[in-house]
Amino acid sequence: MKICEAEWKEAGEMSETWNPWHGCKRISSGCLSCPVYQKDYRYGRNPSLVFRTKAFDLPVQKNRTHTFRLSPEDHLVKTCTTSDFFIEEADAWRSEAWRYIHSRPDLDFLIITKRPERIAQALPSDWDDGYENVSIGVSVESQYNADRRIRLLLSLPVRKLSVAVEPMLGPVHLSRYLATGKIDSVSCGGESGPYARICDFAWVLDLMLECVRYGVPFRYTQTGGRLKKGDQIYNIGEEYQITQAEKAGINFGEVIAV
Ligand code: SF4
Repeated sequence: MKICEAEWKEAGEMSETWNPWHGCKRISSGCLSCPVYQKDYRYGRNPSLVFRTKAFDLPVQKNRTHTFRLSPEDHLVKTCTTSDFFIEEADAWRSEAWRYIHSRPDLDFLIITKRPERIAQALPSDWDDGYENVSIGVSVESQYNADRRIRLLLSLPVRKLSVAVEPMLGPVHLSRYLATGKIDSVSCGGESGPYARICDFAWVLDLMLECVRYGVPFRYTQTGGRLKKGDQIYNIGEEYQITQAEKAGINFGEVIAV
């Protein structure tokens, strides 16, 4: 996801991840190159099997010196990077996970999902206008899913909202949502993996300019494996996809996600 690991690829060194459960079901075309699937297949595991991990209670685990094990320098905890926090299979475990989140106001939990239609029914009873320490974002790969998922996200009581356009599989315009003033940050990036589909740099620039127009922080997280610039298509190795995006020099502002 990142948002799954696809969306989380740029995991910052100071941040930490918490995966209370692992495994996911593909839900849209943005899932085709899901890194969780790629990695699990490589290790002979079934990625669609959702199970609770040993790290389930990590936010409340303490070490021998009685301090919390989960204490990232920048307080950011990327939550559920190898699953989807709102996946149905985790319904029985989520209340407890929310309790752990609520018990750590010193941390900022970032949840990115492709299932915003399940959020309302999956919020804890004391959620009210949203926990102060939780940011929720949607990941979208196309205009169709942007329209569907962002509308749903905007209708929910969430204090901090973000959008990750990743993998970007076509032009995606967000002006109408950015104009609401409710989106705190936007990120975008191309698709990785052996079957990576093309991401056109012109789409990235258009989205960046929309964010500039509305003063919404923007980050270009990675080029993806096949980048189109003008008439040329470049195949970019996995190890260069983040650095090449950085070199584009089009990021601005503080982005919550990625
Ligand atoms: S929602 Fe994310 S983790 Fe789940 S299959 Fe799709 S890309 Fe993978």
